[in-house]
Amino acid sequence: MNGVAAFVHRDRLHRIASSFNGRTRGSEPRYRGSNPWEATNFLSSSYRPHRILMSKSVLIVGAGAAGLACSADIAREGISVIVLEARDRVGGRILTEHVPGLPVALELGAEFIHGKAPQIFGQMKQAGQEIVESKGDDWCREEGGLCACDFFEKVEQLLAKMKGFASPDRSFSDFLKQLPRGEGDEAIRLRALEYVSGFNAADPARISVCSLLKDMERQEEIAGDHTFRLRHGYSGLVTWQQQECARKGVDLRLAHAVERIDYRSDRVVVSGTSEEGKFGREADAVIVTVPVSLLDSEDKPSITFDPVLPTAKLDAIRGTAFGPVMRVSLIFEQPFWKEMKGTDGRSLSNMRFLFSHDQSFPTWWTTQPLESPVLVAWCVGAAATANRGVASGLYLASYFLGGLVGSFVLGQVFVRFGWPTCGTRSRRGCTAGMS
Ligand SMILES: Cc1cc2nc3c(=O)[nH]c(=O)nc-3n(C[C@H](O)[C@H](O)[C@H](O)COP(=O)(O)OP(=O)(O)OC[C@H]3O[C@@H](n4cnc5c(N)ncnc54)[C@H](O)[C@@H]3O)c2cc1C
Repeated sequence: MNGVAAFVHRDRLHRIASSFNGRTRGSEPRYRGSNPWEATNFLSSSYRPHRILMSKSVLIVGAGAAGLACSADIAREGISVIVLEARDRVGGRILTEHVPGLPVALELGAEFIHGKAPQIFGQMKQAGQEIVESKGDDWCREEGGLCACDFFEKVEQLLAKMKGFASPDRSFSDFLKQLPRGEGDEAIRLRALEYVSGFNAADPARISVCSLLKDMERQEEIAGDHTFRLRHGYSGLVTWQQQECARKGVDLRLAHAVERIDYRSDRVVVSGTSEEGKFGREADAVIVTVPVSLLDSEDKPSITFDPVLPTAKLDAIRGTAFGPVMRVSLIFEQPFWKEMKGTDGRSLSNMRFLFSHDQSFPTWWTTQPLESPVLVAWCVGAAATANRGVASGLYLASYFLGGLVGSFVLGQVFVRFGWPTCGTRSRRGCTAGMS
């Protein structure tokens, strides 16, 4: 009586998964938003945790943070767990590089912990990993030059007005169109739009107001206005999770790409390709933790299900949008911005974020308060798909201007150009990373 229904654990595991997926929001089927939290709630609505707990054997597909967390928790109950991961490494969209001579960890994927997420804080405390709050000054690039940002409060006030526009639900763009215009609020509307598309990595025309409101509520619960990072890199979390799995006897199979899942009420057969050729595994239940964009049967899914997934699950998958993001990590010889001054004469020495209206890379950040010569450029959506040329130009400009540490780093950086963030075989719509 087990079967396939579980995508992620409804309670504990689910919260872990969603705390990672938390950057991309919005899941009303109508708007094809991008809120994995909502989608997984919906997906797992037919899932009963006791089904998994009654199993003797469980297969987990994907060894990202969600898959690993899930595996350790299930194995802790004495259940036999095998994890099948397509790549030759764990971590999925979490990937930290340690560049010789660089005083900070270089993230190629996830970097920030948004709020005091208990799942991450709890695990990292146990692992003895130091969590550092991201603190510093935020600067804005306006026409007149660099100035201190003064829009946060006003953007918050504007976002709070979404409460009056949640029923019926609508897209964020529609909300802005329908919101009565006040004098001089054009600049704030633009910042709000940039915030939603930049921070939430979402298309304002698709992300739903309800999902943004839920997101804001959850952020409040965990002090979401505070941002943190792991001093030695996000991979510290994954390494600890992997060690936990090993301690609990989880069997981790890397380079095992799952292609097909045949499920019946009492048995599951998972098959795919590994370096040794085709493989097949049987278990009482399977939990799939790959990005949902890889499961959409409308678009040749990476994994085929037999029988096809129930309509409700497919609707949820299709109602969950994943968008491209691009991050470019530039390593300079010196943090040159520390010598710069804003229009008010203040030094940029503590710069944390820099927001511009630039179409290519509107958001920039430093590793403040950790001292380093690293500057990250970030863009989302269509710009991220179109910006590969701009990004490589940025690298080269920095290099020839004597910015980058050397050709070693440049080489490393280009090795990572456009690394596939979803899995080994597909880059489809999966917050594409470039670092
Ligand atoms: C550039 C970038 C920056 C980000 N920044 C942040 C941030 O600052 N803060 C934040 O909270 N989040 C951030 N995110 C999002 C965060 O990285 C993800 O939400 C999180 O890592 C997702 O974890 P997961 O385990 O759910 O999925 P994944 O990490 O995607 O793991 C899924 C795993 O499944 C494997 N897989 C795929 N297909 C198959 C298959 N057919 N068979 C077997 N295995 C398969 C994949 O190889 C992968 O290892 C960022 C993402 C990117 C790309």
